[in-house]
Amino acid sequence: METARKIRERKGYLEMENKEILFLTPVFKEMVWGGNRMGEEFHYALSSDHIGECWGISAHPHGDCEVREGAFKGKKLSELWKEEPGLFGHYEAEGFPLLIKIIDAKQDLSIQVHPNDAYAKEKEKGSLGKTECWYVLDCEEGSSLVIGHNAGSREQMKEMIEKGQWQEFLRQLPIHKGDFIQIDPGTVHAIKGGLLILETQQSSDITYRLYDYGRMVDGKPRQLHLEKSMDVITVPAKDVSSSVKGTLGLPADTRNALEANQYYTVWKIKVEKGCAFAQDYPFMNMSVVEGEGTVNGQKIKKGDHFVLPCGFGEVELQGEMCLIASAAGKVG
Ligand code: ZN
Repeated sequence: METARKIRERKGYLEMENKEILFLTPVFKEMVWGGNRMGEEFHYALSSDHIGECWGISAHPHGDCEVREGAFKGKKLSELWKEEPGLFGHYEAEGFPLLIKIIDAKQDLSIQVHPNDAYAKEKEKGSLGKTECWYVLDCEEGSSLVIGHNAGSREQMKEMIEKGQWQEFLRQLPIHKGDFIQIDPGTVHAIKGGLLILETQQSSDITYRLYDYGRMVDGKPRQLHLEKSMDVITVPAKDVSSSVKGTLGLPADTRNALEANQYYTVWKIKVEKGCAFAQDYPFMNMSVVEGEGTVNGQKIKKGDHFVLPCGFGEVELQGEMCLIASAAGKVG
């Protein structure tokens, strides 16, 4: 919890104006299941045809984005977080708390599950757990995701996993472009081949792999984490219908909140005629996922990721584009 002193300090910073937009250079990750859509559709210069992830906004040690231009050009996001806490409204967290990724799944990702904060703290050297959510940027007709499972008890879950009854155990769900899916810790999940996704998540890289379809990487199977997976899987699984939202019918030129929990609030903003709103949070992340336009007069296009700092004030978006935005914590 934030102390009263911190909140006062933050309010002080909120009153300071800061119009510097922190444009970030993404970090790319080669993955066995990755493809080349990020090069083709987002015009990133890629070094491989198996790029699975683009870390667009991240200060995680496994992929720390650098500021692309402006007063802080060349600084890592993790450095700014430490050296310029005012930019982030003195937000109380050890490091930049969120990580925004684009995922290009040419093939199925492994079946996995993430721990919550308490479990990760105890078993993963104090790391954070991982709560994440997905916005489906694109998918093939008839695509599906794995979300949840069909076991009714922990005993049944263990039996199904130990016997490898994946067909019966895993719950598959049809998915469409524009769907939004919230994945709580303990939820068995897998992104399937053919999906392009924007992920907003806690800044954590702790994943327990439950099943990898028997795939070999460099002649060896990737490591599985069965014990830890079985420790953290929620049984029975949460009702699927409550965790998937279609967003294509949402109104344009306004912020549509897709999710708000203790870790993040996520919005979809589809700009057609233009819109304006106040950035009065400690900071706000934005990723342009379609089209192009301007933010307060500065040109932005599909594939740009940036942070609006504390005290940014009025945000003006013009053009024809779609953005996914987020703030840390549950905000109004
Ligand atoms: Zn995950």
